[in-house]
Amino acid sequence: MTKIEYTARCHCGKVQFSFRSKEITKGLRCDCSICIRKGAVMSLKYIPAEDFTPIKNMNDLTDYRWNDRVVNHLFCKTCGIYPYHGDEEYGYRVNLGCVDQINPLSLEITVYDGKSMPISKA
Ligand SMILES: [Zn+2]
Repeated sequence: MTKIEYTARCHCGKVQFSFRSKEITKGLRCDCSICIRKGAVMSLKYIPAEDFTPIKNMNDLTDYRWNDRVVNHLFCKTCGIYPYHGDEEYGYRVNLGCVDQINPLSLEITVYDGKSMPISKA
């Protein structure tokens, strides 16, 4: 399966990254307590770390942990945009609104029932 190289950035451009994935035609939204507030359309799958490349200085990100403190919710320190979350072990779930080649509102959206998860860590 051919993979596409996607490029992405936060709003101010201090956080930039790229990743390889087969063509993205679907997005994910979640109704857990943090996602419902962010409102982002995310990648359906986690992008494996070997396919994920940070381009700009990751010190421009800050991380917000809550509840079980497992998922690191990342935000640009300057513009406040959430570009992705995850880590090297689990891979990265990407905010598709940050991706240059994608219009997230044109994708088929799956809604994940994060609100019903006992620790709501989706
Ligand atoms: Zn920014």
